[in-house]
Amino acid sequence: MSNLLQNKNALILGLANRWSLAYYIARAFQREGANLTLTYQGERQRQTVEELGQELGAQRVVACDVTQQQELDQLAEILRAEGEKLDTVVHSIAFANREDLARPFSQTSRDGFLLAHEVSTYSLLAVARTVAPAMTEGGSIMTLTYLGSTRVLTNYNVMGVAKAGLEASVRYLASELGACNIRVNAISAGPVKTASARGIKDFSKILDHVSEVAPLKRNCDPAEVADTAVFLASDLGRGVTGNILFVDAGYHIMAY
Ligand code: NAP
Repeated sequence: MSNLLQNKNALILGLANRWSLAYYIARAFQREGANLTLTYQGERQRQTVEELGQELGAQRVVACDVTQQQELDQLAEILRAEGEKLDTVVHSIAFANREDLARPFSQTSRDGFLLAHEVSTYSLLAVARTVAPAMTEGGSIMTLTYLGSTRVLTNYNVMGVAKAGLEASVRYLASELGACNIRVNAISAGPVKTASARGIKDFSKILDHVSEVAPLKRNCDPAEVADTAVFLASDLGRGVTGNILFVDAGYHIMAY
């Protein structure tokens, strides 16, 4: 442990289970000495996230469904009441209806399109607005994105459009919050088998293709995504904002 995040307070949204990218990030943050606050979406997830929080030595576990303004307000209130500075925030949240990740893109329903954008894109702005007042000494906000934002990947569909909006939001937020010394970036992770990824039809074919074609001839390891999150959260990343950092064994540079 090199204590890159000692004395830093971190809020991590989107930890659902041990396969979540947010879980790997939380583990890496814990290793580097950060104080953790975790959130969960709904009572269904509460016990699991509380147990994982205990294992990770989290200071607190808070409810936060990002579609519920009241829960975001409660989160803001908790941060205000604690009076602690917040240094880093990980937004690791996305959702689309399973059927919209399997049928032709043009068949995406209006409701399905709006839902995917509300949870996966708008929530970054909503979270940034919630946490910024607590980031009194500046800090780092990061989100997770995917190559489907700029390239057509079979079945990624509406989520690709949502990720394009997410990446543009990173740039607008970085521009706005830079004056408060808050950096905003995205990590574009390669494919990793998680609960969300399983919702994408034929996801295992994507994994096979990447491991054949990527420059490193393998898929990315979620621990590599987590270590990049440590870099962005730490003072080592102090000059980096408005960026999309690829952690995908180099796959994004290939033309086939
Ligand atoms: P995951 O474990 O399923 O994480 C997704 C998280 O989003 C879950 O914790 C889920 O909570 C949460 N969520 C969904 N709707 C929410 C809401 N309304 N309010 C609060 N939380 C909500 O899957 P993951 O792969 O780690 O995904 C994390 C992020 O990484 C996503 O943005 C994803 O697009 C991105 N990403 C993943 C990959 C990959 O291949 N896995 C690659 C690149 C980028 P519930 O489980 O309670 O619904």
